[in-house]
Amino acid sequence: MAAQSAVPGPEPGSSSPSGAAWGKDYQANSDRRYFRTPPSPVAVSPATQLPSPVASDVIAKKCAENALATCGVSKDQLSSFSQDGGVDALVPIARLFGEAALTELFGRLRYPPDRLVAPFHGYDGDANAIRQLGVRSTAVLLVPRLLACIPGHFRQLARRTEMPEEAHAMECLGWILMYALRTGMRRVKQPAWWVPPAPAFAAEYPDPGPPLADTISQVIRTTGSVDTTLKKFPIYRRLFSRWDSGIAGSMWRMETGARKSQFGFPPGLPFYPEVLPNGIPRDMKLPTPSMQRIDAVWLARVRSVGAVDSKDKADILRKCGNSAVTSNEFANAFASASLGGIRLTADRFPVLDGRRQILHRVTVLAQAAPTITALFEALAALGWNDLLLESAGTLCFRGVKLKWIATKAERYYKAAQRLSTHGYGLAIDVNDFENPKVAPPVIDPRIVAIFEAFHFDWGLSFPETDPHHFDLVRRVFN
Ligand SMILES: [Zn+2]
Repeated sequence: MAAQSAVPGPEPGSSSPSGAAWGKDYQANSDRRYFRTPPSPVAVSPATQLPSPVASDVIAKKCAENALATCGVSKDQLSSFSQDGGVDALVPIARLFGEAALTELFGRLRYPPDRLVAPFHGYDGDANAIRQLGVRSTAVLLVPRLLACIPGHFRQLARRTEMPEEAHAMECLGWILMYALRTGMRRVKQPAWWVPPAPAFAAEYPDPGPPLADTISQVIRTTGSVDTTLKKFPIYRRLFSRWDSGIAGSMWRMETGARKSQFGFPPGLPFYPEVLPNGIPRDMKLPTPSMQRIDAVWLARVRSVGAVDSKDKADILRKCGNSAVTSNEFANAFASASLGGIRLTADRFPVLDGRRQILHRVTVLAQAAPTITALFEALAALGWNDLLLESAGTLCFRGVKLKWIATKAERYYKAAQRLSTHGYGLAIDVNDFENPKVAPPVIDPRIVAIFEAFHFDWGLSFPETDPHHFDLVRRVFN
């Protein structure tokens, strides 16, 4: 999808902040029982507010400050965030969204207030992040993370529409606005952030446009989202059909109750396995023979270190030693699994567009490749490209990593001598920049739900919680 050329601005006389919920009522399901390991909060974060553009940067700044305050940011926190340039950096987004929709956008992050003003990043210390990204301070890093919340906001707004045509238009609008903002930011000398790619069903609005409810047509106009130079209605229709007849359209129908679940599941769930035309690949029989060979190589590596009686020795086992399992002997043990249309930054977020390695594939245990490929293809067809942004990797031949606590050294040593599920290529770490060990997770419930449906266990259930980790092994061995 082509990017728009400027930050969309309001038209004279366009709507002012109202705060009234838009569309029909919709509640995401908040029943913990639909998860093996429930996220908290359980429900997908709501969106009820259409963007309501404001007319000046001064008003936009006030909107950003008010929205942060509504999310629990204190006066002192806000003042230092503002001094570091955090509020100024938010102006393009605040100008387009207005206060009420911006408040909901912050809510999608699931961050505690102290993290809204000190955003997570995947760099080793703030000084490194500032130097490598060329930014004034880490406060501005809220912007690239918030950009990626925009498609999710509109996905939820789409659940408040009556007609499939309107739902598709809403989902498209999220992608259009995210790209338009990103492109516009470059013009006002903000960094050129990497953002996730739009799903295959995302279309720009043609002129004349599709028949939509007045409020939707109005928001498309007031956000400057119509491509008035092109008359692409047939293309738009084709992309709508793709959404409508695909699993993204099926999800919308199941979630909104327009279609009943054949298994009696209620509306509002974050994922319905029955939307997948080919179902979910069967769970693997574990351990496989190649896993037993990997175990033998691991045992030899542990023995070579000798007695693990110090942190230094344990740390030897905590380093990836993939050469031991990528020799010819293991040529068929691992396979490269496609991420479908999903793209993940490699081990860092945020990143500048075009600068860092972007992952298209991951190396996994050969027997797991069909499951992992099917999972990522489903994510891409659902258009959930915005929910996974980064991966620290899959295959890593190393011991289990626990947090170093001096009084619990034995535990740390013992864990390091146990092969991690990454050692088999049966685990994947996602969005770890904002989901550090032991801290409360901020992963979207949709991601937890779909990974669980594809037989993954979530590391939040581990004795030492690991909320960025999903694997296909644990319940078989423990
Ligand atoms: Zn992991």
